[in-house]
Amino acid sequence: MTFSVPGLVVARGIAIGRAVLVGSSRVEVAHYFIDSTQVDSEIARVRQGRDTVAEELQRLLDTMPADAPHELAALLEVHLLLLNDEVLSIGVKHWITERLYNAEWALTTQLDVICRQFDEMEDPYLRERKADLEQVVERILRTMQGVAQPVVPPVSDTSRRKTQQDLLLEDGMDVPLVLVAHDLSPADMLQFKTSVFAGFVTDVGGKTSHTAIVARSMDIPAVVGARMASQLVRQDDWVIIDGDAGVVIVDPSPIILAEYGYRQRQIELERERLARLRHTPSITLDGQKVELLANIEQPADAASAVRAGAVGVGLFRTEFLFMGRHGNLPAEEEQYQAYRDALEGMQGLPVTIRTIDVGADKPLDKAHKDDHLNPALGLRAIRWSLADPAMFRVQLRALLRAAAHGKINLLFPMLAHVGEIRQTLAQVELAKAELDARGQAYGPVRLGAMVEVPAAALIVRTFLRYFDFLSIGTNDLIQYTLAIDRADESVSHLYDPLHPAVLRLVAEVIAECQAQGKSVSVCGETAGDVGMTRLLLGLGLRSFSMHPAQILAVKQEILRADTRKLTPWAQQVLEAEEPALLLGH
Ligand code: PEP
Ligand code: MG
Repeated sequence: MTFSVPGLVVARGIAIGRAVLVGSSRVEVAHYFIDSTQVDSEIARVRQGRDTVAEELQRLLDTMPADAPHELAALLEVHLLLLNDEVLSIGVKHWITERLYNAEWALTTQLDVICRQFDEMEDPYLRERKADLEQVVERILRTMQGVAQPVVPPVSDTSRRKTQQDLLLEDGMDVPLVLVAHDLSPADMLQFKTSVFAGFVTDVGGKTSHTAIVARSMDIPAVVGARMASQLVRQDDWVIIDGDAGVVIVDPSPIILAEYGYRQRQIELERERLARLRHTPSITLDGQKVELLANIEQPADAASAVRAGAVGVGLFRTEFLFMGRHGNLPAEEEQYQAYRDALEGMQGLPVTIRTIDVGADKPLDKAHKDDHLNPALGLRAIRWSLADPAMFRVQLRALLRAAAHGKINLLFPMLAHVGEIRQTLAQVELAKAELDARGQAYGPVRLGAMVEVPAAALIVRTFLRYFDFLSIGTNDLIQYTLAIDRADESVSHLYDPLHPAVLRLVAEVIAECQAQGKSVSVCGETAGDVGMTRLLLGLGLRSFSMHPAQILAVKQEILRADTRKLTPWAQQVLEAEEPALLLGH
């Protein structure tokens, strides 16, 4: 039966595919795709895990004292029976062979499938066996833990966006898969980045949570904050992700499928039309040049930035190089190489690289998840770097060395105090002195600060005394101005880029930079929102940094804009009690 689950719009487009549920087991397991040559060894790993647990249980049973309660022996026998149940082993084999899931993922997937069947049983005794099965599978998982290494095969562009017609022609591994999870950390998302999924759905998360940001950078439809999706959707269900409406449709009828197939093709046509603008200079009707830059998370993203016609990188979020490494942070050499790769990928265009911004909803990995009461107000971004200056300078040295090979701008996240500014700049000088002492070459860099907290916007003049350029991080600026956790879907309706207080801060920073002849850009999600382009132009912004996938649509808005009309209009918007009304939002 068709039903829909509402969520939040985070990455536009339509995805149609079969659901892949991850992460519902109580034991945390890795999810990755194996190579087809590894199928037998993965099946053997499960078998080995199962045999080890069976031996343990049998030993317990054999050595049970005579006076042990009868129920205990009966329970162990049930566990042994479940362990050898064919539904479990055949199902696991299926997920490994047909879907190329790693062993642990296959086990939790099959556990999910069987648990659903148990839930539907009338007999309370049988229903209770679900808990036993969970215990058995968790035991196998614990036995297997720590053996495997993730291998995520890259995917060709064609398998990303399938139309309805393709779907009807295909089955098996070629059917698009959509990922459904309660939550996905940014590190999980990164792992899936080069993977086969045609779309994402998560129960939690706000529009500018980092999970949403990575989904947008992947240019695939996604819905977050879909509350119960991971409970309501079953493994392998047909699912439509309507990224434009922020809705997930489960088990769609043929009519609905046909309608969405049509819309998918329309979106594809629109993309093709926009692609023609790639080489068109982004100049408004009245001749104002506008710089369109890309936000990237990994050096490899540079390729899509160049493809989209970006004239540089406005924000390289380096924290993604540090994530999911179990505390083994990348050494100077590895970082240096990554920054050089980004430069090379951009083919001589300038690259603005932000120093590590971990913390809050971007933990280094699961083990480092911040359990402080208010992680967004805690030791994140520059605070984290300044708390460990030796580690910070590893990154600074790598960046300075890379700057010998191309144009690099250094960008520092979340500064608020002049004391932090001075400490940061002192660390840059120290890093240079260390390189001098080593006799190692480095290049010149421009220094810039993110304006992400209201305090920074309010003392923008102080910032401009120290920095060559500023970049407005509206994602955090909105979060901190309105006291709205950007990752919390329960307050996402209050997360408002058009709140007059936010607009005033943005407008003042742009105006002050203009007055002092310093460059300023916006690199938060509002820069890539076509509904905001005209207003930002009217406020004087001439540099926008966004996901490569958004560049052409924003360029189209710019080509149609006339800043002579937009400038007075933007002042009216600034004065309005409800600016959204003037934008027709
Ligand atoms: C921002 O806060 O707007 C920004 C660009 O930084 P991030 O989204 O990585 O926090
Ligand atoms: Mg930020």
